[in-house]
Formats: sequence, structure tokens, C-alpha cells
Amino acid sequence: MQVVKTKNQLRTILDAERSKGCSVGLVPTMGALHRGHISLVERCVQENDFSVCSVFVNPTQFNDKDDLIKYPRRPEKDAEVLQKAGCSLLFMPDEQEMYPEKDTRLFYFGPLEEVMEGVYRKGHFNGVAQIVSKLFEAVQPGKAYFGQKDFQQLLIVRKMVEQLNMKVQIVSCPIVREESGLAMSSRNELLTAEQKRKAALISKYLFESLTFVSKKRPAEIKEFVVNGVNAEPMLRLDYFEIVNGTTLQSIQEWTDSACVVGCIAVYCGSVRLIDNIVYKNAD
Ligand code: AMP
Repeated sequence: MQVVKTKNQLRTILDAERSKGCSVGLVPTMGALHRGHISLVERCVQENDFSVCSVFVNPTQFNDKDDLIKYPRRPEKDAEVLQKAGCSLLFMPDEQEMYPEKDTRLFYFGPLEEVMEGVYRKGHFNGVAQIVSKLFEAVQPGKAYFGQKDFQQLLIVRKMVEQLNMKVQIVSCPIVREESGLAMSSRNELLTAEQKRKAALISKYLFESLTFVSKKRPAEIKEFVVNGVNAEPMLRLDYFEIVNGTTLQSIQEWTDSACVVGCIAVYCGSVRLIDNIVYKNAD
């Protein structure tokens, strides 16, 4: 596996690969890689001749300075697991390389960004769009891989690709969980053992709620999950919304949409965790 830090080095290597007729896939990450990330990389390796994984903790998507400072970083370990997963190239730029000057671009994704993470993390998706568009520009992948764990992000990235008329195909990959059910996240490393046990209740309530879908209305499911999380002193709910999986707008009845997803954000101590569950799927 090659490791490069600059866009120029990256371009030289990718131009050579493409001139041989190789397809290029990209997995954008912020590092501290876990099995969730690796599942994306493995899919990318399967579906492309040349797989690029980027590791960059993008400052413009952090609305909370402390979160950015605390965000786990371990580049050597990341390189090791990527190599094992069959990744062809690790792109590890520094901030100067990705933002030689301040990125003043403002994106607008309409109703998709006016709910959930868009409300609770002001400017977050603008930062995501800034970095993802820069990475797409630098790598020019045929396919790029994103996790369903960041469900709203996935829809925003698809929207961005549409708005900018980019050629890349966005591939969505299922959530990988710990044995406890807790959705894998780099931020899980910041939890104590006890917090981790409590954090597992988030997915427990989500999965339990799934079993009531045929008997209860969305508002009742919402109450069940919200009350469950609120009853636990170590957890603090930001939101739980049951939404149309295409528009992200809240639904009142199960028949309101062919695809319905429950999206949750919860603080466990000072660590913010997100998760979601598909109640109804269009396909
Ligand atoms: P991050 O490093 O948190 O920016 O995540 C990089 C990519 O990995 C994003 O597309 C995430 O949605 C995806 N991802 C993170 N955690 C998981 C998980 N537990 N299962 C599947 N994909 C994930």
C-alpha cells in the first residue's frame, strides 16, 4: 500500500492507474479506523481495481472545538489495518494541503439540512460538503463509499453530487455494530467501560422499537425510545426523529412514506453518538 500526503503525488499515481484502464474507488474517513470503516474499504477493494482511503480529521465540519481536539488520531495503526484490508493507497493530507486558503464556499441542501444534525450541529454539513467535494476533486473516483450510520450525511453527499453534477457513484454500506449492538464509531474509544455499557442501550431501544412497528403508531414508538433514553442518567438525548428516509422530514403515519428511518443522537458523558434504524425500506 502506498501512503501519500499531497494531492500532486496522488494525482500522478492515479493518472498512471487510470491510463492502464483501472477503476478507482474512494473511502473518505477521519481515521481511528474500526471494523465499520474496514467494511467500506473491503467493499471498495472488491468493486474497484484501485482503492483509495483518505484519513483526514476535517476541522471545518466540527462545530465544537473540544470535539475536534479530543477526536482520536492514530495514523500508524490506521495504515496497518488498511494494508491488511487490501487498500491500494492511503491519502493522509494535512490541513494546509486540503485548505491552503480558507474555504468560503457555502452549500445549501434545502430541507435535508434543516433537520436533525443540521439543527444540532450548525455548519456541520457545509464542512462535510467542503471536504468531500475536495476529496472527490482530488481522487476523481468512479465510486465512493459511505456508511448508513451517518444516514443524513449519506443523503447530503448524494444531493451534493447531484447539485455539482459530479460523475461519482455513491455506494451506501450497512452499519457495523459491536457485539453489544452499539454502532461502531471512532468516538466510542472516548467512552469509559461503564459509559460503553450504557451507550449500548441506544441501539437496544432502537431494536426493541422495531418489534412494535406493526402495533404502534410512530408517535408511540418515538415516546418509547425517548423515555427509555431519558430514564438513563448517563445518557442525554439530542433528538430522536422518525423520518421519511428520502426527504428526512418527520412522518406521522407509517403509510406516509415507503422508506422510514428512526434517527437518534445522544450524549454519553461528553461524547456525542448517533445511530439509526430502518423501520421500513423501499427496496
Ligand atoms: P468517519 O471516519 O466517522 O467520518 O466515517 C467515515 C465513513 O465510515 C463514513 O461514511 C461513515 O458513515 C462510515 N462509518 C463510520 N462508522 C460506521 C459503522 N459503524 N458502520 C458502517 N459505516 C461506518
